[in-house]
Amino acid sequence: MAQLTLRIITPERIALDEPVVSVRLPGVDGSIGVLPRHAPMIAALDFGVLSYTRPGGTEGRIFVSGGFAEVRGDTLRVISRAGEKPEEIDESRAREAEKRARERLAQRGSAATVSEVDFLRAEAALRRALMRLRAKELR
Ligand code: ATP
Repeated sequence: MAQLTLRIITPERIALDEPVVSVRLPGVDGSIGVLPRHAPMIAALDFGVLSYTRPGGTEGRIFVSGGFAEVRGDTLRVISRAGEKPEEIDESRAREAEKRARERLAQRGSAATVSEVDFLRAEAALRRALMRLRAKELR
């Protein structure tokens, strides 16, 4: 069966380097499917869950935090701020981040001191937390 190598690179490490038969990526303009022999591609990524199928048929999931995906030859390279497998995600940290973000967003419309930029940051932090919980199948 045709395969491609999925390599996920973060500032600290190579989070994943595995042969796969299909990948679904969270693109900024929607979900992107990549199969072996895909045309060369560069796409911007959103925060979200990247899912893939191994040659044996088992599925894998990994949380990615934005960045870029590049397909060249038989390699799909992802460069992202984070690449976390479900077992690497700290659930309580994600729940704390969710709580902080929700508290900040709840001040919208009431506190004149909190800027719009802070709300945008809180919204992004909330989405990261929810996607981490989804990668762990807790959402
Ligand atoms: P927090 O507010 O908890 O720091 P964040 O979404 O702002 O979360 P990021 O800036 O996306 O965090 O990531 C910073 C670093 O912390 C990355 O190396 C990322 O992998 C790691 N990280 C963040 N949250 C978690 C988590 N819940 N479990 C494991 N690693 C995490």
